[in-house]
Amino acid sequence: MDFNTSEEHAALRKAVGAIADSFGSGYYTDRAAARTPTGELWRALGEHGYVGINLPETYGGGGAGMAELAIVCEETAAHGTPLLLLLVSSAICGEVLSSFGSEEQKARWLPGLAAGSAKMVFAITEPDAGSNTHRLATTARRDGADWVIRGQKYYISGVDDAEAILVVARTGTDDSGAARLSLFIVDTDAPGLERQPLPVSVELPERQFTLHFDDVRVGAERLVGTEGDGFRQVFQGLNPERITGAAVCVGIGRYALERAAAYASTRSVWGSPIGTHQGVSHALAKAKIEVELAALMTAKAAWLHDKGEPAGEASNMAKYAAAEAALGAIDAAIQCHGGNGVSTEYGLIPYWGLARLLRIAPVNREMILNYVAQHSLGLPRSY
Ligand SMILES: Cc1cc2nc3c(=O)[nH]c(=O)nc-3n(C[C@H](O)[C@H](O)[C@H](O)COP(=O)(O)OP(=O)(O)OC[C@H]3O[C@@H](n4cnc5c(N)ncnc54)[C@H](O)[C@@H]3O)c2cc1C
Repeated sequence: MDFNTSEEHAALRKAVGAIADSFGSGYYTDRAAARTPTGELWRALGEHGYVGINLPETYGGGGAGMAELAIVCEETAAHGTPLLLLLVSSAICGEVLSSFGSEEQKARWLPGLAAGSAKMVFAITEPDAGSNTHRLATTARRDGADWVIRGQKYYISGVDDAEAILVVARTGTDDSGAARLSLFIVDTDAPGLERQPLPVSVELPERQFTLHFDDVRVGAERLVGTEGDGFRQVFQGLNPERITGAAVCVGIGRYALERAAAYASTRSVWGSPIGTHQGVSHALAKAKIEVELAALMTAKAAWLHDKGEPAGEASNMAKYAAAEAALGAIDAAIQCHGGNGVSTEYGLIPYWGLARLLRIAPVNREMILNYVAQHSLGLPRSY
């Protein structure tokens, strides 16, 4: 066992942090307030090979793994510029396409995703299915050589900023009534696909959309992998999504604590810095411990995934621990800033909003507890 940071990882952290610093947290919070994508940062990271660091080298990627993509996610967040679409475009779509895409699909899509010149977003969530994927009602039916997709998705991030969407649709039903799922690549400007903005109060650069698929026709070459095997295939992408989500949370936690420690060391209202009061310092120390623990579990989950070993339990635990740790850290940072904690000038609230969102998405805290109760503890399935 070796807990030392390798030279390569240290260099990667430094390089990504330097790019993020060249944009700065003000860039992120301004864009979040304006609901405008942070495309310049995405492209800068793409040009240096970091957005597609986990994608195969044959298709222009970095040939590394989830450990490295998690570092990119963590460092961008730790420097105040978190990138939610890394979870979707690089982690889910990149991993699913790399694992199950045809040669033609990989050649068509991966180079753009790797270079940061194109994005693919991911659509699974539906108004009437929510956390229960077996109830997905969006269907894809065969029509000659084509597939025709009909249904609705909501809370789909970044559709306005992407070329295509990886859509999860029902192509059959098994004996128990559960959906047989398949994956399709749909262009964001496909005829019959309508999108409506879905405003959220959390300030984010990435916009959310409701999607209506009104008999959207795609060719047979847009089916990813095997028809009816979408549930298994999507899981290849869901662990990476959880790992990178956890990494963003670890980064938010680090960012919050750095800001809080700097403030608590200099702000003085009783003759000494407020950080001398244990009511302030213990909250930050506790948060520091929790962020470090979450970082360890995130690294373990990424390591397991990269080794091709079962990573579901560790990915879920990492996502749970990191979202809770990030929220604890940002809340402690806001509290130690007093009134400044909620000011626009100090810019902490957008990170609280993002951390709060990451307790719900991409998988909510309760579904993770269900998973751990059932799979780790052997308790009866609850839902
Ligand atoms: C800003 C944002 C961006 C998003 N981006 C995307 C995206 O790009 N693509 C995409 O497909 N989806 C996206 N989502 C959707 C997100 O993944 C879902 O919101 C999330 O999975 C929860 O689903 P739901 O909202 O339908 O909640 P529901 O399934 O309605 O659940 C509501 C709450 O009930 C509880 N709950 C539900 N089921 C159980 C259970 N069995 N046991 C215990 N408690 C339970 C949980 O607390 C849960 O939070 C996004 C959501 C948001 C808010």
